[in-house]
Amino acid sequence: MREYVQERSSKLDIDSKEKTIEKLVEDFLRILGEDLQREGLRETPRRVSRMWIEELAMGYFVDPLAYVKTFEVEEYEGREGLVAVTNIPTKSICEHHLLPFFGYTHIVYVPSGRVLGFSKFARVIKVLSSRLQIQERLTEQIADFLEEVLNPRGLLVLQEALHTCALIRGVEESMTMMTVALRGVFREQKEMVNLALQLVNASKLPLPKFEGF
Ligand SMILES: [Zn+2]
Repeated sequence: MREYVQERSSKLDIDSKEKTIEKLVEDFLRILGEDLQREGLRETPRRVSRMWIEELAMGYFVDPLAYVKTFEVEEYEGREGLVAVTNIPTKSICEHHLLPFFGYTHIVYVPSGRVLGFSKFARVIKVLSSRLQIQERLTEQIADFLEEVLNPRGLLVLQEALHTCALIRGVEESMTMMTVALRGVFREQKEMVNLALQLVNASKLPLPKFEGF
């Protein structure tokens, strides 16, 4: 079984997980010495728990392969062209610090008969990134998944992200992490990689800059 495939949880499971996380957040706040009854904190455990279950960790409860059924995978006339989908907003949680990292994913592939609808890339990335991740693994999982679904002749996945764990913990540079996963012809043909990177560079949006943190 591939690493990105998870058991799907039932609604009952998810409700009980949400309740348990709510209690853990309460304990966490108590350990800090907080008063759970004060106005600003009264709804916090429930809010935090729901945020993790429904958004930040949603990918644990959804199997991205289930999305394949709704994919508009269209026959493609087998031309040699490249397809580039760039600037897909990507947000995930770093597993070392439980803090967000965010940026863009850029995908370039050489179809071998199948292409994906534009928005489907974003949905797959959403599921795979709504789990505790490191950027390196997330990039590889996206590549593995798209390779399986599209069976492309070549695939390049490039991610550029800012890590808030580096920003708020006093690492001095404004650090950007870039990760690249290569499959198929992009592994063997350097000129194909150069062409793909030219496409990405021509369209990619800049990440925000934070100086002097
Ligand atoms: Zn981190």
